[in-house]
Amino acid sequence: MNLSTSAFIILTLLPVSYRATMGTSGKHPFLTAPSFIPKPLNPHLQYYNSSPYLFSLRSLFCSLSSHPAPSQPSHSPSTNNYNHLIQSLCKQGNLRQALKLIPQEPNPTQRTYEFLILACTRQNARSYAPAIVRHLIDDGFDHDPFLSTKLIDMYSNFSSIDDARHVFDRTPEKTIFVWNAFLKALLLADEVEEALSLFRDIGRSGVSSDSFSYSYALKACLASCLPESVVFNRVREIHGHAIRAGYDSRIHVATTLVDCYGKIGGVICSRKVFDEMPHRNVVSWSAMIACYAKNGRHFDALEIFRGMMLRNPEIVPNSVTMVSVLQACAGLAAMGQGKLLHCYVLRRGIDSTVSVVNALISMYIKCGNLDAGRRIFDSRMSKDVVTWNSMISGCGVHGFGNEAIQVFEEMIREGITPSSITFVSVLGACSHAGLVEEGRRLLESMEKEHNLIPESEHYACMVDLLGRAGRLDEAAKIIEGMEFEPGPTVWGSLLGACRIHGSIELAEKASSHLFELEPKNAGNYVLLADIYAEAKMWEEVNRVRKLLEERELQKLPGCSWIEVKKKLYSFVSVDGLNPQTEEVHAMLAELVKEVKGMGYMPDTRVVLYDLDPDEKEKIVMGHSEKLALAFGLIRSGKGEVIRITKNLRLCEDCHSLTKFISKFTKREILVRDVNRFHHFRDGACSCLDYW
Ligand SMILES: [Zn+2]
Ligand SMILES: [Zn+2]
Repeated sequence: MNLSTSAFIILTLLPVSYRATMGTSGKHPFLTAPSFIPKPLNPHLQYYNSSPYLFSLRSLFCSLSSHPAPSQPSHSPSTNNYNHLIQSLCKQGNLRQALKLIPQEPNPTQRTYEFLILACTRQNARSYAPAIVRHLIDDGFDHDPFLSTKLIDMYSNFSSIDDARHVFDRTPEKTIFVWNAFLKALLLADEVEEALSLFRDIGRSGVSSDSFSYSYALKACLASCLPESVVFNRVREIHGHAIRAGYDSRIHVATTLVDCYGKIGGVICSRKVFDEMPHRNVVSWSAMIACYAKNGRHFDALEIFRGMMLRNPEIVPNSVTMVSVLQACAGLAAMGQGKLLHCYVLRRGIDSTVSVVNALISMYIKCGNLDAGRRIFDSRMSKDVVTWNSMISGCGVHGFGNEAIQVFEEMIREGITPSSITFVSVLGACSHAGLVEEGRRLLESMEKEHNLIPESEHYACMVDLLGRAGRLDEAAKIIEGMEFEPGPTVWGSLLGACRIHGSIELAEKASSHLFELEPKNAGNYVLLADIYAEAKMWEEVNRVRKLLEERELQKLPGCSWIEVKKKLYSFVSVDGLNPQTEEVHAMLAELVKEVKGMGYMPDTRVVLYDLDPDEKEKIVMGHSEKLALAFGLIRSGKGEVIRITKNLRLCEDCHSLTKFISKFTKREILVRDVNRFHHFRDGACSCLDYW
């Protein structure tokens, strides 16, 4: 296993909770990788390897294996030679022969045992472990703290946490390295609570924690399945300890803190730690960028990346940095910036890292350029399941359901095992294209052909698929037939379908579950209010709005982005601050006047107030995507495709107006809303009004 520095850094940033995806060994590569990184050969061994001496050692060894004990002391190699020979055999992976030689060596050294344990770990040769430990005890090394750390690592690698614990308990003089090795082992074994209690024991034992102890304890906090608020408090507590011990400014403790706070939504804390760091390396910068990208603060992610590039020429972004920055571009649909980053990735030669390739594919697809994503996908020989999933969901969000199924089938033919996410992607694609029967078949195949039990997410896709197709009763039946409690995504899909097809009874049923499962999700209240408003049930609308106020929830403000000449502009609904607003509103009013003559009628059903039609029209005209569209028409070059991103679902009125405007201005307009892409051309949309 040859890990390049950048690949190693990627691994260090992966959260412990992702362990399940890291291969069959169940090991977290950050914690196990270092022992696998080939060390430069010992100069002596290199010499042996290239010299006739190796030959003589080998012939000696052959004679030994047929005659276990040298009969003539005069022919016996010196002690030093046996130790060297055992070490050399370990290096070559010949553990069996190395072990046979151990009884011949009267004074095996600590280094010889280190080699044996490392070889055993590297080869995952657990059957040799008891013999090694027996010899080690016989030779009096069982109290050696250095070898204890190696043994703990080895047992941890074998997923034998009880054996690791036994070694730890048996070591009388526990150095900080022994504590840290066991702390790391507990973390890998998902024994999170024990890890945290061990961390507290370090302090009580009189040994001083080092920066690694803090890093492991922080990772243990993240790995627990406790509510985010509890995790947050624990991280803060350890942060406090680190400050008191003077470790908070150590580069890797501070970087782990930035990473931890980022993963639990503590963006402000993350930034504070980052700003106070006396020194930062590329991993620290990457952690801060990832924190912003993960928490949807895409503008900030790009801004901090810019800061890193402009002010810190000595810091060179690596593949991890690029993955986060590309994610931010994808989040903003900032294709101009994304293309610049693609060029940079090519120049730096990091375009062969699979995670970067996946991020590039995803960036192009989310920026609305499915073809560019497909070209990168097709050009790659090595694809992992994430690469395939990206392509499948990419075809889906662009409305190409059949193509998504084709990619899925190609993946199966290539022998790639689909993951649970693969099915979410392909079922989602069926949903966007209304492929009901294909969806049913795929859902059934999950268990029958691929040994995967459908989860809430998959049922949610199926409910969405049936619901969008107007088959609400069948969707409700799917929910009734589920063998476990439906999660919020399932009820959310049903409520969304009720919004399209207007079923009050089912909507009330779905929302009563949702208000219980996700009491703080304002979107559900808004959806129900929408459904009531559409049925002109104003009293009910008011009741839901009151609920929203009582629970101190706020409707997420609509926000749209547009990239013009590689610069990003954002619009929130009725934005008074932008100097362009006046011009934008005038342009919009003019366009509306023109398209009304072509048959456009403002659709104000989305307005949740019982107001005059004129007032309602004013409200829908302030929607952010209309402002972004007018701005795009003013600023972009003739014939350029206009690309807009919206943080919520596109409303019926914006959808209808954009269709008319695409015809009137003869422009292609691409809008990405929270669910999918809408490609407007010549008065029609690629979603066929089905979204
Ligand atoms: Zn709208
Ligand atoms: Zn559409």
